[in-house]
Amino acid sequence: MKKIAVFTSGGDSPGMNACIRAVVRTAIFHKLEVTGIMHGYDGMIKNEFILLHPKSVANIIQRGGTILKTARSKEFLTLEGRKKALENLKKHDVDGIVAIGGDGTFRGALEFAKICDIPFVGCPGTIDNDLIGTDFTIGYDTAINTVVDAVDKIRDTAESHDRLFFVEVMGRDAGLIALRSGIGVGAECILIPETVTDIDELTKRLKSGRKNKSSKIIIVAEGDEAGGAFTIAEQVKKRLPDYDTRVTILGHIQRGGNPSAMDRVNGSRIGFSAVEALLAGKQGVMIGVINKKITYTPFANAIKHTQRLDPELIRMLEILSL
Ligand code: ATP
Repeated sequence: MKKIAVFTSGGDSPGMNACIRAVVRTAIFHKLEVTGIMHGYDGMIKNEFILLHPKSVANIIQRGGTILKTARSKEFLTLEGRKKALENLKKHDVDGIVAIGGDGTFRGALEFAKICDIPFVGCPGTIDNDLIGTDFTIGYDTAINTVVDAVDKIRDTAESHDRLFFVEVMGRDAGLIALRSGIGVGAECILIPETVTDIDELTKRLKSGRKNKSSKIIIVAEGDEAGGAFTIAEQVKKRLPDYDTRVTILGHIQRGGNPSAMDRVNGSRIGFSAVEALLAGKQGVMIGVINKKITYTPFANAIKHTQRLDPELIRMLEILSL
């Protein structure tokens, strides 16, 4: 192996830069050339390759986003697009690939493997934590901390005005951000795609809570099947007209910001191990950290999002918010 390529793909997540830095520096330590591909699979198709040096990744470990930019590529979904991407990789003599992204990125890698014989490994870079084969994806911890910080501020105003707040957090398919941040902020309730949201039950629960509670926070995952925070708040308001109800959608602030120490360390460890995995002849695997140890999970298993939310944690959240 003489030259590897690294790229970021799908939604950006804090800690991706720490991971890129680790990939570049580890590769150069092992006397490999490193090319960065801008804008994920899109840049692979459009031939956006740049040479990376140790200095290219100086002073980025603390920065959110990704210096390689990222994209969601429609063209890569087609065989024609993937063929163009392969041509470019061959043109640049790439003989190893490190992708940093989420489940879609690894689904793309699996499709690509049908025509591409270049060894390909992945690093779990997504705020969603919806991958099997790692305790924490790179970016999840920072996103949770951002939500906790924002909801603490909302709690202050909710408390002063005796209000019921619905706070919508990211999570199209998974309630992992909602659950962990909900525990962290002492939310009264979380509404997530993994469980059925019954508005009448929710109303009953809100009414049966401690009477002198001055604020109530409900965390809603954006993918909750009962609708977003606005829809749910409207339905609750109809049943509880006396409640002073407000909605906040946290949106993209959850993706940005300086990565937490944990995301920097995880990003570094995973990026470092990705290059060493390629050199050891591994391919088609996602690098992760489970119980503090580096692990290798085949892409096909990594994307099986069967990660059920621990019902014990949901039960605990409800008891603690009495
Ligand atoms: P995040 O979890 O942050 O959303 P992600 O990696 O899941 O990140 P996606 O947009 O779902 O983000 O996937 C990234 C890219 O992977 C897609 O834009 C697409 O180009 C490619 N991809 C996804 N699924 C496939 C597939 N089945 N075949 C080929 N390419 C795919």
